[in-house]
Amino acid sequence: MKQVYSKENHQIPIDGVDPDALYVIKKLQSQGHTAYLVGGSVRDLLMGVEPKDYDVSTSARPEEIRGLFKNCYIIGRRFRLAHVRFGDKIIEVSTFRSGDPENEDLIVRDNEFGTPEEDALRRDFTINGLYYDPFTETVIDYVQGFEDAQKRFLRVIGTAHVRFKQDPVRMIRLVKFQARFQLNVCPHAHTALLDCRGEILKSSPARVLEELLRMLESGSSFSFFKQLSDVGLLQHLIPTLSAYCEYAEENVVFELLKIADSLHKKSSSRLDRCVLLSVIVYPIFERHIHILQKNGSYFHLGRIENEAYFIIEEVFAPFLEIPKRMVGTLAMILTSQYRLRPQANKPVRVKIPRIPDFQLAIDFLYLESHLRPTLKSVLEPWKKALKLR
Ligand code: ATP
Ligand code: MG
Repeated sequence: MKQVYSKENHQIPIDGVDPDALYVIKKLQSQGHTAYLVGGSVRDLLMGVEPKDYDVSTSARPEEIRGLFKNCYIIGRRFRLAHVRFGDKIIEVSTFRSGDPENEDLIVRDNEFGTPEEDALRRDFTINGLYYDPFTETVIDYVQGFEDAQKRFLRVIGTAHVRFKQDPVRMIRLVKFQARFQLNVCPHAHTALLDCRGEILKSSPARVLEELLRMLESGSSFSFFKQLSDVGLLQHLIPTLSAYCEYAEENVVFELLKIADSLHKKSSSRLDRCVLLSVIVYPIFERHIHILQKNGSYFHLGRIENEAYFIIEEVFAPFLEIPKRMVGTLAMILTSQYRLRPQANKPVRVKIPRIPDFQLAIDFLYLESHLRPTLKSVLEPWKKALKLR
């Protein structure tokens, strides 16, 4: 059933919408196509949050879209969609497509064009299935997502069990929206998540990694990882971390995530993804090195680096596939903690080494210094040295 909500109902401020997204929609509509804002940006505008990016859905076909904008590239092999570029900003424009909401099989084909209604129905949650037409200032709702957004209720479009089996990444997305917007989760979705959580291993590791990284950067990372652990998804995704969360006396990972979240709220400068990913491994790595060194032997940095690669593999490799470059940077950040901090009462030699991205190791020390105030005096000379460099 289609419902249309006018400005009086939704209170989306039109000047809160990105002017380049408006330009794209206007141009498509002026050529006789249907075009709306869709998905995450409509949800964010309704929830009073500034959207990170803007997606447009349209009746225009990829070639037609490309013909209309000079700064436009077609991407994707299976389903072709258009990226319209404005400097660094990209407006993603895709043609309405259909799905099969009732088929339990893992989605492998996702490339049929469809109607606006079909396109809404193939989306994951009702709050993500809304359209916004900025020129009539109306919200167009085929999935009863408008009411759910107002009630802050997270409901799966269609049958939750079926939709999670089709695409298990949706379970992680459920936890993500719950953590990010403090939503109440529909009980059916919660039950389906508990029943289907093992299926997460059938999903693409690259997509899962992207969702985890986005959440590390989100300012709601603690609540996200805590929830992943509580619903038993973490046990499948990162078993070593899951075991750590269960048994650690002090959960340093969670404490550091809380700090990363509070820094996100306070400061406009963003921590690098590798620094944030280090939060997940460092406490496990530190404990590992501590046990190895228990007999008093002191390891040189080369040995510590080998152990860093070993632990990174042990923590992530069961399911995730971290790109090689990131693994290198992660190992550098972990290893460098033993260069930055005094070891076995030896004084630290404060000299910035010629190691690419070394400041990321200092950023990690900065992060941890909020948890352990004694690290503040260790951090100071390194900050000075970085400035003098
Ligand atoms: P974020 O704010 O983290 O970007 P998002 O909801 O915008 O969250 P995107 O990955 O940018 O997520 O996806 C854009 C839209 O595509 C979603 O709002 C949703 O409508 C749809 N979508 C994304 N992933 C799925 C999925 N796994 N199954 C069905 N629909 C999806
Ligand atoms: Mg998005």
